[in-house]
Amino acid sequence: MYQFLQKLQYWMMGRNGTDQLTVAALIVGLIVSLFAQLLFWPLIFVSYLLYIWALFRVFSRNLAARQKENQAFLKVWRPITQWFSFQRTKFRERKQYKYFKCPHCGLKLRAPRGRGKIQVTCQRCHAQFVKRV
Ligand SMILES: [Zn+2]
Repeated sequence: MYQFLQKLQYWMMGRNGTDQLTVAALIVGLIVSLFAQLLFWPLIFVSYLLYIWALFRVFSRNLAARQKENQAFLKVWRPITQWFSFQRTKFRERKQYKYFKCPHCGLKLRAPRGRGKIQVTCQRCHAQFVKRV
């Protein structure tokens, strides 16, 4: 078993391995296969294609191309996860802080709640405005 793992490790040298895009392809493949079972069986081929693509990416030796694909994927994916994590923070702190945007530059700001009308100075553009918190 140990020798097998060593051989596998050697064989994987210089190959792409798993990255975020591969994991995403596998997850989407699983979801599609679930839909295939529930709704429309030929969709199963779409999930097979996604699995094959994921395997191709894992074993690919063209690292530059695979990294470029993964970066392109992360460029789209990161803002989505950041938006969700911001919503979670905003919800968790909803009793302590009021969140709002600077009316001039759109920067997201927060201020402790319950202080009535306060004068806000934006950290980025230094615009001043009055806000009820
Ligand atoms: Zn501003």
